[in-house]
Amino acid sequence: MALLLTPTSGGVQDWRQALVAAMPGLDVRVWPETGNRADIDIIALGAPPAGALRDLPKLGLIISLTAGTDALLRDPDLPAVPIVRVGVPPAGDTMMNETTLLHVMRHHRYLPDYARAQQRGEWIKRPITPSRERKVGVMGLGPIGLAAAKVLAAAGFQVAGWVRRPRSADGIEIFSGREGLNAFLARSEIVVNLLPLTPETRGILNAATFKALPVGASMINLGRGEHVVEADLIAALDSGHLADATLDVFPVEPLPGDSPLWRHPKITVMPHVARRLVPTELAPRVRDIIADFRAGRPPAQMVDRARGY
Ligand code: NDP
Repeated sequence: MALLLTPTSGGVQDWRQALVAAMPGLDVRVWPETGNRADIDIIALGAPPAGALRDLPKLGLIISLTAGTDALLRDPDLPAVPIVRVGVPPAGDTMMNETTLLHVMRHHRYLPDYARAQQRGEWIKRPITPSRERKVGVMGLGPIGLAAAKVLAAAGFQVAGWVRRPRSADGIEIFSGREGLNAFLARSEIVVNLLPLTPETRGILNAATFKALPVGASMINLGRGEHVVEADLIAALDSGHLADATLDVFPVEPLPGDSPLWRHPKITVMPHVARRLVPTELAPRVRDIIADFRAGRPPAQMVDRARGY
């Protein structure tokens, strides 16, 4: 029995060390040095390198070290074994909470506007709005999105969330389904995308979505690059309907040098730095997943392939 590890955020050698420290004796193989592929019963990965999922006759479990499983689910060699996400603690991912709060605050207090005014050497004052009067919308209340929404609510913002199935969440107004989307957008002055990338959510940040936001709204994309229709975003910013956007994720990363997003005055480009995986923090959770698997217990936090997350 062996675990195959492929490079991901956090550094493959740091992951290896952390996993072995949490599970002494665990046979960890680092891609592409697989050794005998018939030994491998578990693979732990982020986005799979081409061919990593091929020819693993004894594979019984895939552990996604990253929250997003879109690249994994698109892999043509994906075998029909359970996929489990490492998951985040109930308080969420600290770095994602920080990143969400940071960018919401930037837009809330018009920092992009002040940066442009400084470039022009212009002393401007935008009205200062208290957070209790600011309406923020979070698209996707998964483990990361829900925790981030709660942090925003604790900072005083009026927070709403958009999800697939109706439910309740303390202090957060819930909108659900396509039928709830326009009402959710219409009340959101700052919208944060934390949806998973699925066939249903690909291109969801498009002209119709931007039009449904109030004039002067800002958009923060922390989900996946393919959620955004780039031409529609640029048009919405150029028309003045949207004030500003911050993008942390892109369909092609690193973002190509000739992308118009780099130099658009109303777009902040962040090089996918919302969070970093910390192997020493996550290794105990991986250990628990492996212990359940090897003891034949059903896995928790399984990815639903049909749903796409
Ligand atoms: P999930 O990926 O588990 O997303 C689930 C949430 O999205 C649920 O609330 C779900 O609704 C909602 N959702 C899914 N499909 C739809 C739909 N069609 N319509 C409405 N709502 C929908 O959440 P996480 O919080 O774990 O992660 C969010 C995403 O953030 C990841 O998938 C990843 O892409 C991204 N991410 C980005 C990082 C970065 O570095 N920028 C780092 C970490 C994550 P319901 O509750 O009804 O099921």
